[in-house]
Amino acid sequence: MTQEVTEETKKTNFIKHIIDEDLSSGKNGNRVYTRFPPEPNGYLHIGHAKSICLNFGLAEEYSAQGHETKCNLRFDDTNPVKEKKEYIDSIQEDIKWLGFEYGEEALFASNYFDTLYECARELIRLGKAYVCELNAEQMREYRGNLKEPGKNSPFRERSVDESLTLFEKMKNGEVEEGTMTLRAKIDMASPLMVMRDPVIYRIVKASHPMTGDKWSVYPMYDFAHCLEDMLEDITHSLCTVEFQDNRRFYDWTLETLTPYFEKNHSKKGRPYQTEFAPLNLEYTVVSKRYLRALIEEGHVFGWDDPRLPTLKGIRRRGIRPEAIRNFTDQIGVTKKDSTITLETLENIVRDDLGPVCPRVFGVIDPLKVVITTWEDGHVQNIEADYHPKDPDYGKRIVPMTREIYIEKSDFMEDAPKKFFRLKPEGYVRLKFSYVLKCDEVIKNDQGEVIEIRCTHFPETFGGVKPEGFPKVKGIINWVSASHGVEIENRLVDRLFTVPNPMGDKERDYKEFLNPEAMIVQKSFVEPSIRTAKIGERYQFERQGYFILDQDSTKEKLVFNRIMTLKDTWAKRKDN
Ligand code: ATP
Ligand code: MG
Repeated sequence: MTQEVTEETKKTNFIKHIIDEDLSSGKNGNRVYTRFPPEPNGYLHIGHAKSICLNFGLAEEYSAQGHETKCNLRFDDTNPVKEKKEYIDSIQEDIKWLGFEYGEEALFASNYFDTLYECARELIRLGKAYVCELNAEQMREYRGNLKEPGKNSPFRERSVDESLTLFEKMKNGEVEEGTMTLRAKIDMASPLMVMRDPVIYRIVKASHPMTGDKWSVYPMYDFAHCLEDMLEDITHSLCTVEFQDNRRFYDWTLETLTPYFEKNHSKKGRPYQTEFAPLNLEYTVVSKRYLRALIEEGHVFGWDDPRLPTLKGIRRRGIRPEAIRNFTDQIGVTKKDSTITLETLENIVRDDLGPVCPRVFGVIDPLKVVITTWEDGHVQNIEADYHPKDPDYGKRIVPMTREIYIEKSDFMEDAPKKFFRLKPEGYVRLKFSYVLKCDEVIKNDQGEVIEIRCTHFPETFGGVKPEGFPKVKGIINWVSASHGVEIENRLVDRLFTVPNPMGDKERDYKEFLNPEAMIVQKSFVEPSIRTAKIGERYQFERQGYFILDQDSTKEKLVFNRIMTLKDTWAKRKDN
């Protein structure tokens, strides 16, 4: 099912209803505390942006209403094998880029390793956890399946003292990886698999980015996460729907340890988990695992490749954080799984860029035009507004010369009647300049059109329509061939050719990669572009929005296309 943005979705955020109720019942006093808990094992993507905007957005919104709020950034660094400092840094940059603040500093699951270890020992003492010596395969066998209950581990009834001793040995690095785990003792016959004595600690002998070699045992996410929420006084713990069943374990852990917390930590209350539907977006994939494969196999050039839905990729492509925040606002927050149409995002990006991008002339795919009536060497400097609606952008000089480029697609030899741009014997208007008439078409040996020869009409300059002059409907963009700047133009497009690349069980998603997702094109832009700085965005009139990429040098400007313009020039009233 795909979801369109409607007035309905914009208003939908069922989580706000829950928070409103909690505030009016006084469940957490005046507090609304949320958190965003990424695992630093890759770069953030647009799916994470939904969660970030939700969690940080709620804190902002309820704070504005006078409630006491915070949103913590807390890294789930419980698996040292996959986690890196590089990811920790990039995640923080991305959250700041989106415009959110997370208190003084980022928090880490590893901040709580001592406390979590004590909580695990408490579970053992309560007879609610035991050290198990089944290996991974045996554990799978004993677990049963959705139809059949599991079997109790032979180690389930070992004594509290024995488990405490073994757990300590595990911690001290005296036990081999994979030979022992600490498991919660719940119910091997539970209809919820997560309740069948889940592993809560395992042995990992790897150096950790924050704690180095201090630990040989690491808590599992499910066990750590609820306790961290508790320790940080989180009120609303929001996660995606695949964690629905895990909520039972979340609640079990906190309830079982309530007396312990009451004795050892002064807590204001306890957190509750609520699940919402993850973001899915057409023509892309939002999963670190699948994105990583694209990078490692060289289909794209890195985490910040502008074709990718990573926040680094989106940023490099030129989409502004404002657009991403608008997008997450508009799609709403529900429990029902759905896929957002790509047009939804694209339209929001266009609306965002329209008012903030100065406009210049760029010819994406050039065709040379020689104006035979124009004196060789003559240059006319035309003054033009940078933005039709906003005079604050000022003006620039666009030089008009005898040889210019127009878009290949703005000329047609065998044009249908409704084609209002250049055709043999036809007229077209160059924006801000003159009307041209096509006199001659020059082709190469292969029969391709390589040059057009035209006459210009001085009396038509600057939009003037002289009486008796043929009606000219088409207005096109152009660039002086002698004065324009050649650029490397990366025409970014959708990553996949199908809306749901994961939808075909028989085929690998990579088979659906769009080979034209980034065509590199030699384009020409008017000379004012020489002053552009890296990261600056422009509208190339009629063609789309573009950003000056960090790969640019003094000799070569490199642009990424952020987005095409939906409407063509002729249909746009403001032109
Ligand atoms: P991935 O599947 O890409 O690896 P993840 O869920 O494993 O993502 P985490 O670092 O664990 O990545 O995610 C941090 C938070 O972001 C979690 O709370 C998770 O629920 C949320 N999140 C991840 N993907 C999405 C998504 N597509 N839509 C909304 N929230 C998401
Ligand atoms: Mg995850």
